[in-house]
Amino acid sequence: MKQILIVEDEPNMRLGLKDNLEFEGYQVKVATDGKKGLDEITSKPYDLVLLDVMLPELSGFDVCKLARERGIPTPIILLTAKGEEIDKVLGLELGADDYITKPFGLRELLARIKAVLRRGNSTASQQVKEATIGKMQVNFSSYVAIVDQQPVKMSHKEFEILKYLWEHKNDTVSRYQLLEDIWGYDEQPTTRTVDNFILKLRQKIEQNPEEPQIILTVHGIGYKMLET
Ligand code: CA
Repeated sequence: MKQILIVEDEPNMRLGLKDNLEFEGYQVKVATDGKKGLDEITSKPYDLVLLDVMLPELSGFDVCKLARERGIPTPIILLTAKGEEIDKVLGLELGADDYITKPFGLRELLARIKAVLRRGNSTASQQVKEATIGKMQVNFSSYVAIVDQQPVKMSHKEFEILKYLWEHKNDTVSRYQLLEDIWGYDEQPTTRTVDNFILKLRQKIEQNPEEPQIILTVHGIGYKMLET
């Protein structure tokens, strides 16, 4: 079930949106100001955030900007009021995925939500089959990994993480992104789990796992695989 976070300070708007989205089959959480919203976005891998612009504590623009600066990739739809036309452009520049102007109809909102969720999925489903990553030759369709002409034991999760980093190579991938896309929302691993998997992968692909040249650590955010 897709998880949506609503960050909205007006109680009627917040409850109305929550009821309607739950009725449509989404799992919904709410936050009542910008600061709480940012905390939620940073601590859990939501599928989508509906983010009001005019909020107490932190504006929607600030929340969006700070979330992106922290490497949080969660899709964000801004809820703007009439007369905030110029700000919409600013919102997209700050890393929002879309915006919708109040008052909006439920049908329009649902269409935007579905479009943004679809876009989010399409990047993850890129087809990659074979690759040479450091010491390892790997086939992602047959789940075979070879190092020094010998097959290497890899768990399904290790394959998935390696493939994900490979598909996003030269990009910084946050721990939350990995948690969201590899483990999914229903399992509850910690970012520590991600780190342990990365350690295991480094031992298999790096010439010297103590000084990784392929899967680099991006401090405070996550990891980056370099082209080899
Ligand atoms: Ca507001």
